[in-house]
Amino acid sequence: MPKPLMETYSPPEEIFVKGEGVYLFEKGGGKYLDFISGIAVNALGHAHPKAVKALKDQAEKLWHTSNMFRVPGQIELAEKYCRDSFADRVFFTNSGAEAMECALKTARHYWYAKGRPDKYRIITFTGAFHGRTYGAINAGGNPKYLEGFGPRMEGFDQIEFGDMEELKAAITEETAAICLEPLQGEGGVRPFPDATLREIRRLCDAHELLLIYDEVQSGAGRTGKLWAHEWAGEAKPDIMAVAKGVGGGFPMGACLTTDACGEHMVVGTHGSTFGGNPLAMAVGNVVYDELTREGFLDHVVEVANFFGQQLEWLKDAHSAKVEEVRGRGLLLGLKLKEGYVNKALAKHARDNHLLIGAAGDNVARMAPPLVIEEAHARQAVEALDAALSELEPG
Ligand SMILES: *Cc1c(COP(=O)(O)O)cnc(C)c1O
Repeated sequence: MPKPLMETYSPPEEIFVKGEGVYLFEKGGGKYLDFISGIAVNALGHAHPKAVKALKDQAEKLWHTSNMFRVPGQIELAEKYCRDSFADRVFFTNSGAEAMECALKTARHYWYAKGRPDKYRIITFTGAFHGRTYGAINAGGNPKYLEGFGPRMEGFDQIEFGDMEELKAAITEETAAICLEPLQGEGGVRPFPDATLREIRRLCDAHELLLIYDEVQSGAGRTGKLWAHEWAGEAKPDIMAVAKGVGGGFPMGACLTTDACGEHMVVGTHGSTFGGNPLAMAVGNVVYDELTREGFLDHVVEVANFFGQQLEWLKDAHSAKVEEVRGRGLLLGLKLKEGYVNKALAKHARDNHLLIGAAGDNVARMAPPLVIEEAHARQAVEALDAALSELEPG
């Protein structure tokens, strides 16, 4: 990494200069199949013509006014989000961490406004990831991300992933909300079973707790439903953070809430200079219209079923190295057996011109553009087959 940058990442040698559909291109023309898409971001692939046109058209009209003036694109997009979800109100942000900050603040402010400022604690689960701001690392609770950044923030209680008894025992009079990713991404592509989500919703109702979903990674059609929690039926949240895929590659996110929660976020309680800026809204509206276009999500389900089956085949073919296939829709992971390293598999995949990612729990993560076809899935499986064959212990 060249000197002027903080070395917070360790990217590989390849430098990409162009993207087209599901492929990325190096300067010299080297072509790679992109099955990570900026970590579940480029939902429509790279340089989708409609998104490019929307961004160009808006760029020629108006870039920025800040939220001191109305941005019509915000109202248009917020209406669409509310039309198709539990939500009644939306706050736009630039990122997932900011969407989570808004979600956490909204939950605490709800109880404050109800005269219960003592109800501020938020329960989260091991393996959670909510972003890298101070609030988000404390909510996420990953010791690796917290170490060296001063005292832990008060008010977060973390319990074992999916342990319902521990969850029940952790609820007190001070608990404001339970917060979770319906399908954990960074934590290792680990879904909450649908029945567990419904049970947690019932628990929240019984104890008058708010339910916060972080669908930054699992949302925006990633699992074949617009929002991953829809698979569980009666398990709607009160507050939900979204980002990544909703902008299709333009940095944007949003915090969605019910009226009951959102109505307390009044003038002065929260803000953002850039959040929901006209460029982001131009792209966000086009991305959303595509995601909700007739047949789009059916395609995601179909191609995901095919790809998932192929990964099961790979697991059987490399059973000494692959422990299990995880995930849902087009957020999928291969958990490797002890002794084999996910990052090494990603390197071998790259050598075979396939881009994948790594997640926690030694999982190789795949989150291709939602517009992939069966042929791309087949090509990815061939490259993974070769990469797994080349993978050595260590
Ligand atoms: C990526 C991610 C975030 C943080 O989003 P940023 O845009 O990087 O701030 C939060 N929650 C989940 C589940 C994520 O996957």
